[in-house]
Amino acid sequence: MIDEKLQPILNQVLQRNHGEPEFHQAVREVLESLGRVVTKHPDYLDQALIERICEPERQIIFRVPWVDDKGQVQINRGFRVQFNSALGPYKGGLRFHPSVNIGIIKFLGFEQTFKNALTGMPIGGGKGGSDFNPRGRSDGEIMRFCQSFMTELYRHLGEYTDVPAGDIGVGGREIGFMFGQYKRLTNRYEAGVLTGKALFYGGSRARTEATGYGNTYFVQAMLATKKQSFEGKKVVVSGSGNVAIYSVEKVQEFGGKVIAVSDSSGYIVDEQGIDLELLRQVKEVRRARISEYLSLRGEGRGAYFVKAGQSSIWSVPCDVAMPSATQNELTGADASALVKNGVMAVGEGANMPSTPEAVRIFQESGVMFAPGKAANAGGVATSALEMQQNASRDSWTFEQTETRLASIMRNIHDTCAGTAEEFGSPGDYVLGANIAGFVRVAEAMRALGVI
Ligand code: NDP
Repeated sequence: MIDEKLQPILNQVLQRNHGEPEFHQAVREVLESLGRVVTKHPDYLDQALIERICEPERQIIFRVPWVDDKGQVQINRGFRVQFNSALGPYKGGLRFHPSVNIGIIKFLGFEQTFKNALTGMPIGGGKGGSDFNPRGRSDGEIMRFCQSFMTELYRHLGEYTDVPAGDIGVGGREIGFMFGQYKRLTNRYEAGVLTGKALFYGGSRARTEATGYGNTYFVQAMLATKKQSFEGKKVVVSGSGNVAIYSVEKVQEFGGKVIAVSDSSGYIVDEQGIDLELLRQVKEVRRARISEYLSLRGEGRGAYFVKAGQSSIWSVPCDVAMPSATQNELTGADASALVKNGVMAVGEGANMPSTPEAVRIFQESGVMFAPGKAANAGGVATSALEMQQNASRDSWTFEQTETRLASIMRNIHDTCAGTAEEFGSPGDYVLGANIAGFVRVAEAMRALGVI
């Protein structure tokens, strides 16, 4: 339910941003949480502060022409939404996926603004990407695409202006190609302009692992409030990309048993527990489809593959669910199935993977629910640590960096839990994350005048 004082703001967002359902969904969720804030502090309604927070500072859309291996010219569309820089330079990943459009990038940039605020670090919010589909493309094609993409984007970036990172379809290889092109175009070795770099040219230890590890730390903290832990728990993780793989690794280290993972072609179940090395071989080395895990492992003994569309990964009974693929992948029906099967906690590794109906079902059923903007903030927090290391020309050890990450995740957990309690809904991490993130951004915006 939206407070009546906030409804006109939502109406304006819906009217101004036609055909952008993901952006509408993200704004609606935050505004639903803000009713109690504006009742307690009506001054947040002054000076169109909330309206300004819902409007990106800048939206850039550009043509990305490139030549494929057959010599054919291909055209894609590039995006960068610089959402809010009240707390620091715009910061947020780049997504390469055919589903990308301006509405999706706006929803991600909006979420990113509050997520970055929650980390307590000096970073604003932004997001970008392209409708380019990297699947099946050669290294040469990926490189030419990344170079063309950066040839336009570079003029909008800078370590004090806007600092992108990876997201779906953008990992270490793509960041390397884009950094190389940025360096050529500007003739500057500006290491802090991109994060997610490889270690040997300015990357941070633990950045690759950070989002998956961070979500696992968050869920661990949430379980601890009920005197529970990962030990002996059955866990399902959707996706099998960066976030998923490092969630599997950390959950296993914490004594949990991950029994299912997926990609867009379907999901696999391995009741003995996912063999992490085999999964990495399939996804990181061979860049193959998830069913190849079974071809290499051998079917049977509780291991099988289910094709996409036949049934959902969320029908696999588990104690903890960690959706780590993409937005709106976990529906109301999925949530009901999980609840029926006794799920106790959900930690969103992906951005907005649960539909609003799914979130409602979890919360009404007393399932501990960690929203992505809090639970997956470990990635961007470690990106900010990478920027710190670049600025001081330093390189920290893995242990040092992971210790910082773990403490940041505990702080985010405690901030969300504390804020939810302060506003009368103990255990409501959605409310806590939205309010705590909003207040930090709003205070900075107010201090900077009408911006
Ligand atoms: P990757 O590209 O490394 O992996 C994405 C995974 O999700 C792949 O297994 C992919 O399968 C699957 N997937 C993507 N789109 C779909 C779809 N439409 N349907 C089914 N499966 C899909 O991305 P990341 O792991 O980096 O990102 C995953 C999520 O985490 C995203 O929501 C991202 O925004 C979020 N996130 C990532 C951060 C990071 O640091 N990387 C930080 C914070 C959030 P397939 O290969 O078949 O497409």
